[in-house]
Amino acid sequence: MQISSELRALLTLPRNVAIVSHRNPDGDAIGSALAMRFYLEQYGHKVHVLFPSDYPEEFETLPGAGDSLIWDISTEECKQVLQKKELFVLLDFNAWSRIDRMGEYMRQISAKVLMIDHHLYPEPIADFMISDPEAGSTCELVFQFIQEMGDSLKINPMVGEAIMTGLITDTGSFKYATSPETLRIAASLVERGVDLTLVQDRIFNSQKEQNLRLLGHCLVNRMEILPEYKTGIIWLSKKDYDDFNIKRGDTEGIVNYLLSLKEVRLAVFIHNQPSVVKLSLRSKGNLDVQEICRKHFNGGGHKNAAGAYSFDSLKSTLQKVKDLLPVYKEAIYKS
Ligand code: 5GP
Ligand code: MN
Repeated sequence: MQISSELRALLTLPRNVAIVSHRNPDGDAIGSALAMRFYLEQYGHKVHVLFPSDYPEEFETLPGAGDSLIWDISTEECKQVLQKKELFVLLDFNAWSRIDRMGEYMRQISAKVLMIDHHLYPEPIADFMISDPEAGSTCELVFQFIQEMGDSLKINPMVGEAIMTGLITDTGSFKYATSPETLRIAASLVERGVDLTLVQDRIFNSQKEQNLRLLGHCLVNRMEILPEYKTGIIWLSKKDYDDFNIKRGDTEGIVNYLLSLKEVRLAVFIHNQPSVVKLSLRSKGNLDVQEICRKHFNGGGHKNAAGAYSFDSLKSTLQKVKDLLPVYKEAIYKS
């Protein structure tokens, strides 16, 4: 990773900085944002963390999460804060469209932009781009960024815990970690005093009873297995959202249960959120779900984990996915 002298110069004097991550922030979005915040604050920067929409409840206990500003909840305050910023740090996304209206607003402000991200096909949205689709998480890149700045000693337990959060959530607790670097960084964080068990407990062992019941409902009543296409689908309707009082983050991870089936190579989770139909795709091996999401649903992500939104009905989105399966049958079998 290379950091230009211009960026170094920008960061070594106190600035007014906004750290921004994507809509429906996940562990990597929140972790990288908070890690960057706690790092930059050590330089005396004035930092705000902003997200387009609220983060899941399980991240409420992450130190600093509660100070974040949410565009959907307090748009005016976000606008006022953003207007005064000299530097935007964009984390875990690589296209303005991922932060929709907030992005439209930010683009009109003449702040410098630093982007750090690990998704495929970055758009040229920043003055300083750090993009590495090989990285397991954006948190990993934030760790490397701080090291490259020569600031290893600034990775204190607060910064470390936040980084560990993204390392864990983006790799399924290291199950899908593809590079030794991810494990080296995790080891280095543990050496610095990060409590891995505490971070895991906070994320995975703090569920509400209702969420476990929702998982049961998905597996018993909403799961379709299509052996001919080695595909599993789980869907949730608007009524399910009401019946189970589903809130932000409650459906996180459900798609992964489909991958636990030996025969399944492609996992699809389609859920009718209050205003939009959301798709989450996962795959094993070489099957590129990022391509499926990008080509057919205007979404994106990574080879084995990608997502998209659809403004069609749940029924027609479900049908569109099923109609695509014959097209991808060969790729599924080859994977
Ligand atoms: P998830 O299915 O957990 O929401 O997302 C899986 C991966 O795909 C994440 O890396 C996420 O950032 C990306 N992703 C999810 N939804 C979208 C989308 O609508 N557009 C793009 N470009 N990426 C998405
Ligand atoms: Mn990520």
